[in-house]
Amino acid sequence: MMKHPANVVSLSGGKDSTAMLLMLLERGEPVADVVFFDTGWEFPEMYEHLEKLEAFTGLKITRLRPRMPVDMETDKSPFDWMFSEYPVARRGTRQVHMIGRGWPNAPVRWCTGRKRDALHAHFLALTHRSGLELPLRQCIGFAADERHRLDGVTKKNSAYCVQRYPLVEWGVTEADALAYCYKRGFTWGGLYHFFSRVSCFCCPLQPLDELRTLRGYFPDLWQRMLTMESWLPENRRRFKDSSVSALDARFAEEADNG
Ligand code: SF4
Repeated sequence: MMKHPANVVSLSGGKDSTAMLLMLLERGEPVADVVFFDTGWEFPEMYEHLEKLEAFTGLKITRLRPRMPVDMETDKSPFDWMFSEYPVARRGTRQVHMIGRGWPNAPVRWCTGRKRDALHAHFLALTHRSGLELPLRQCIGFAADERHRLDGVTKKNSAYCVQRYPLVEWGVTEADALAYCYKRGFTWGGLYHFFSRVSCFCCPLQPLDELRTLRGYFPDLWQRMLTMESWLPENRRRFKDSSVSALDARFAEEADNG
């Protein structure tokens, strides 16, 4: 079987990685796999976007999910379970010191770690697939005006897999990427009119203004965040130097005062 260079796309589903995938295909570059990690905290519009993208490109998107203990009986999604029920042991021990990881924050992004590890494991597995020329090129959708993000990246290049930043190579900015997607009919149900980034709806790292917007325009998702908070003990509800319920009261008061 003839081998060919293998681009594998890390797809967050947002404008940058979507534009990267479409541009790779438009340039005639081979795409061996497109991988999306489903946190379960995505906007409903994201799942519609993925289906639309599959129909447009004719490619099947590989969806990865967070791993759960095999014998776990719960109605919660994996991330909801990790958020509220995961037994957290002290580093290097089996001594459980708290239940549930709680809201992520800048220094402790446990969710991002899960995502990164799952993607890395998938890429490693792909290096065993026959017919793919190594090293695989893991395509990451940082835009040209996000070069600073490259500084914080832990590069996992090896003889089998190297990271590639096509939008940086091509000088495609975030605005270019969004315009490119819009032109091809990808609109995410208008989410980019409300939010600068489309990732987990409940991410505490998003700007305060966007949380206010979430409460105002996506009340069901905001309600879900209040429910999530209720799963945590009262002394572990810290969310962005506050709590979701305190923000709820603050935003409600602001709305009442016009
Ligand atoms: S967007 Fe926020 S909540 Fe979602 S995985 Fe990233 S850091 Fe975690």
